[in-house]
Formats: sequence, structure tokens, C-alpha cells
Amino acid sequence: MTSIRTSLFASFTLLSAACGQTSTEPPAQSAAAPQATLQTDQSACTQTVPCTPLQILEALSADEMGGRQTGTEGNAKARAFLRNRFAARGLEARNHEFTFETREGDTLTGINLLARIEGKTDGPFMVVTAHYDHVGTHEGQIFNGADDNASGVAGAFAVADHFRANPPEHDVVIALLDAEEMGLQGAHALVRDGLGAGGDIALNVNFDMLSRNDKNELYAAGAFHRPDLAPLLKAIAADAPVALKLGHDDPALGSDDWTLQSDHGPFHQAGIPFVYFGVEDHQDYHQPTDVFETVPQDFFLRSIETVIMAAEMFDAELVRINSTPDG
Ligand SMILES: [Zn+2]
Repeated sequence: MTSIRTSLFASFTLLSAACGQTSTEPPAQSAAAPQATLQTDQSACTQTVPCTPLQILEALSADEMGGRQTGTEGNAKARAFLRNRFAARGLEARNHEFTFETREGDTLTGINLLARIEGKTDGPFMVVTAHYDHVGTHEGQIFNGADDNASGVAGAFAVADHFRANPPEHDVVIALLDAEEMGLQGAHALVRDGLGAGGDIALNVNFDMLSRNDKNELYAAGAFHRPDLAPLLKAIAADAPVALKLGHDDPALGSDDWTLQSDHGPFHQAGIPFVYFGVEDHQDYHQPTDVFETVPQDFFLRSIETVIMAAEMFDAELVRINSTPDG
């Protein structure tokens, strides 16, 4: 517990410093070329320099990504950007390619991006997932998907940064998934094809929509299915800089049960415990207005800190989580 509080403070300071830095440095070309929509210093986001969570959020939800629909040029552009973000962290991302049938009956190829951070010990490992695809462009309107789910991808990189600076006890796989919006296809493929040699997946930690809530609430779902996770999540909530609530995982809730509504679903169906972090739907959910400018940056950064705390605690408890039978 102490180590979590310490690291929370350390990383929050780091994030605040990074934010302060970007806000005091105007974009290099601001005088010559007005960049009204550019609110972070994207020139700092190069192949060799890792971006801050805010910079990743803005870049991934920019118009040039075209809404990141699976199979489109914008989706490929997003993937190239993300591959560079891994490279800037000294991580090699590999493509995990899969084909699936769309709801319209077409066959489509999707590509997950996977990177592994080595832990100190072999054995069970944690898979952190966040989908990078979104719903594309329709009738000339770009669905930028800032909250859904550039925010979760930024969260996954924040966790990667944390574990690069503070090596985890167990391996951590960062999986940026494709085709979530087409029926959790990337997650289904990943669970089906496995993650390569060595160990078991002890836990899936999924981020999908971390940045928008009027009540400053972030949900952690999953403990209904694995009650042993509840004390851990409550301990995280006690220190979290957001109101972290447990729930949205009881089948009795009907459509408010999120158990199968994002990429953690296929892990759950395969008997792998999950914790899903996300916010409740908001007015810009799946709208062209889900853009960088409508994200409350303070809440987003607090969510990021919360999921870093959680990932650290899950890593510390991973052997116990892995050896507890399903509840
Ligand atoms: Zn989503």
C-alpha cells in the first residue's frame, strides 16, 4: 500500500510537470499557421520521444485518423502512430493479424498491436487491453472517438511507462486491440490465438472510455464475477484521485451489466478474470462530438493515475489472483 501511494505521488508529479510544460510552450508554428484545435504540443510527440497521455489522446483523435474504423486508411495511420509510441518507449510491438466476418457478412482483416514488458519472475502475467479502433467517418462527419477510446489507449501507455520505470514482478502484455466496435473482434481473436509461450493470463485489465464523467466517477467492473477482487478495488478506491466505484458487472442489471460490452468480455468467457475501467455513457458517446476539446483534462489525468495505481496493485497480487478459483 505504501509503495502505491509513493508511486502515485511520483507519477502525478511527473504528469503535472509534463502538462505544465506543454501548456507553457506554444506550438512552434503558432504565429505562421494558426492551429486552433491543437492544444498540446504535438511537435514533442516524435518517433523517439514518448508522448504524454494528453498528447496521445489528442493525436489519436485528430481528424487525420478519420475515426479509425477497422480496415480504413485512418485505422492504419493510427496503428503506425501507436507503433512509434511503443518504439519511443523501447518496446517492440508485433502485429497480431486476424480475419473476421462483419455484421454485413463481409470478411475483414484486423490488426492488434502487442508488446510485452518483462517482469522479474516467470509465470502468470497480466494483459492490459484498450481498443484503438472507432466507428469511422459517416456522411462526411468524422467520429473522432476521443473518449472512446483514445483515452483508454493513452491509459495503456501510461501503465507501460509506469512499468518501464518500475519493473513489474510479472510480465505485462500491452494489447492495443482492433475491431472492438465491430463486435469485440480483436479480443476474441487474441483469446482464441493465445499470446505465445509461457505462463497463464492471470488477469485482463481493460480500459475503454476513461475521460468523461460529469460526476467525476470512474467504474471498475469485474468483482461481481470474482469477489476476491473487491477488497483490492476498494483499497485502490480509497486512495484514488477519482471517485472509483465498483459495479456494472451483475447480470441482473440487464443492459447496465457491462460484462460482455467491451474487450474484457471474451477473456471473461474464457474463464479469465477481468477488471474493466470505464465511465458511464455520456451525451457525446458515439457522436462526432466525442473530440479532444470536450474531454475534461483534469478528470482524464486523474483516471490515468487511478489505472496506474490499479495496475501496480494487480501486479503485486497477481499470484494470489491467479490461484483463486472462480467465485
Ligand atoms: Zn469503446
